Amino acid sequence: MTTDRTRRVEDLLAVPSFAPPADFREKALVNDESLYQQAAADRLGFWAEQARTLHWDQPFTRVLDDSNPPFYRWFDDGRLNASYNCLDRHVAAGLGDRVAYYWHGEEGEERAVTYGGLLADVQRFANALKDLGVRKGDVVGIYLPMVPEVVVAMLACARIGAVHNVVFGGYAPEAVRDRMQVSGAKVLVTSDGARRKGRVSTVKDNLDGVLGEVESLEKVVVVRVTGSTVAMRPDRDVWFHEVCAAADPVCPAEPVEAEHPLFILYSSGSTGKPKGILHTTGGYLTGVSYTHRLVFDLHPETDVYWCTADVGWITGHSYVVYGPLANGTTSVLFEGAPDYPHKGIWWELVERYRVTTFYTAPTAIRACMRWGAELPARHDLSSLRLLGSVGEPINPKAWTWYHVVIGGERCPIVDTWWQTETGAIMIAPLPGVVSTKPGSATRPLPGISADLVPGDEGDDSGLLVLTEPWPSMLRTLYGDDDRYVRTYFSRGARTYLAGDAARRDEDGYYWVLGRVDDVINVSGHRLSTAEVESALVSHPEVAEAAVVARPDELTGQAIVAFVTLRGGAEPSDELQTDLRDHVAARIGKLARPAQVVWADELPKTRSGKIVRRLLRDVAEGRELGDVTTLGDAGVLDRLRSQLANTG
Ligand code: ATP
Ligand code: MG
Repeated sequence: MTTDRTRRVEDLLAVPSFAPPADFREKALVNDESLYQQAAADRLGFWAEQARTLHWDQPFTRVLDDSNPPFYRWFDDGRLNASYNCLDRHVAAGLGDRVAYYWHGEEGEERAVTYGGLLADVQRFANALKDLGVRKGDVVGIYLPMVPEVVVAMLACARIGAVHNVVFGGYAPEAVRDRMQVSGAKVLVTSDGARRKGRVSTVKDNLDGVLGEVESLEKVVVVRVTGSTVAMRPDRDVWFHEVCAAADPVCPAEPVEAEHPLFILYSSGSTGKPKGILHTTGGYLTGVSYTHRLVFDLHPETDVYWCTADVGWITGHSYVVYGPLANGTTSVLFEGAPDYPHKGIWWELVERYRVTTFYTAPTAIRACMRWGAELPARHDLSSLRLLGSVGEPINPKAWTWYHVVIGGERCPIVDTWWQTETGAIMIAPLPGVVSTKPGSATRPLPGISADLVPGDEGDDSGLLVLTEPWPSMLRTLYGDDDRYVRTYFSRGARTYLAGDAARRDEDGYYWVLGRVDDVINVSGHRLSTAEVESALVSHPEVAEAAVVARPDELTGQAIVAFVTLRGGAEPSDELQTDLRDHVAARIGKLARPAQVVWADELPKTRSGKIVRRLLRDVAEGRELGDVTTLGDAGVLDRLRSQLANTG
């Protein structure tokens, strides 16, 4: 059966586009072009209508204030509270017993967290934060593993107008220190320890060595997750469960101005030092609830939705926490890694919770491909009706595998292009309307205006820009308005430069080609990293690939391909030649890699994205740039020695 499927993947690779299946389309929230037309006819009216699906304590009368671009303000005379919108209004509507999260722990523990239960916990912790001296506008750091308390902490901040700054639990203490220092955090919420693949590590004790350097920090709240012993500093450290028990159970949500900051979050650092991105309340919540509802065709009474991202990334903020909760969704929240206790755990959980909607990243799909179609085949995945992808361009081969092996050819795939900066999905299909093409995020959503502007060299590709402000856009880089303007608006205050290169086809579909800085130029021809990598991945022996350019006297730049083979495949000179020919046959001779480097692993950010700038440093034998956001810095040393061997 699995060989049938593998053959089916190969066959479908030739299919250029997939229309929404008829029965999906029939039941979809949106199944015609009317929303696109409505938004095009009256963009601001359209956004106002989306914003009004939220609960406003004081309705707004102004939609957009664009008098000081690129500093835009949305709905700015309105007042609302994000935690009220995520919790109270659902409980008031009689949905207190609905499950918000099926939490599943690494060792198989389960907790069903209802909307009513979450509201009670959030109120207590919000009061506890107040008791600790946190006031509206104060920054609270959150450094926690994937446990329900991370959601409680975020919403408790939102409830009292405090600004959260979540740091991904996999970062080192120094990264926490830097982010707390820069944002002037007053309180940090963390845990005694964390579990990762069966091992327990200490968290709070590791932080103690660096937190003394954060002058603004007054209190540290410790969530008991692993039961590890912790050295508590009596003047500074308190237990989460103790302060919650001591707190008043009732804490009404405080309505804040629409433009009140909701959170600061650092980008993943694929292209350099991470940027501290600031999002505000009304516009952000409008953007995430609208996109979560329509891109995932949400039917909250019947769907079980699972976004595998960690809450420490923007995908977790927008599509694990705020979007799903604002829409009254039932989600799965999984503590663990995709390969623990076994490599089929995701599919086991899909079966167990009857997941309908599954949202993950290309890097994870490629890993699952490498592990083989047998693992998902052991589980009943028939509950799935919609799949999503985010984080990088998805190789058509991985897309097709996802479609066949996971989606059983029934489920539309929404490939969603967006960024920490955009807050919410910008380019993606509405799954009941838009035909999908493997590798393309398709069209800008209703209300979003994308375009291409010429880069330094003219050809059919260009720089991806957003040409009108949108509600969930970042408002600035925290404490650095100048860098905000310089980084994103160098082509004028209305033209948001995403930093990605893209192409648009005859149907108006966008194809992200890679980061602007990563595009390769061979003999005057611009080649996309995504395209060359997809050609490599389409080879049966290849699991994953990353390409970069190194200088070449003859051609200006030459392509170096770092290639990870599938289990069982062995590196050889013949395979090297075969791969180079394979790329040349698919794209053209110019794209033929000058060199193939066998890689056991590729350098990735902790969110799983390939970091090409570091591969360029390796390929050119240069000193390495910023490596602080890498998941495993040792990868680079191993690659260097592999490069030396292939010379
Ligand atoms: P940094 O900005 O710190 O270098 P980063 O850009 O990786 O890090 P994110 O905001 O997490 O941080 O990622 C956004 C980027 O991810 C986009 O600019 C794009 O390059 C890539 N991306 C996200 N989704 C997609 C997608 N569906 N298709 C193609 N690329 C995507
Ligand atoms: Mg970025």
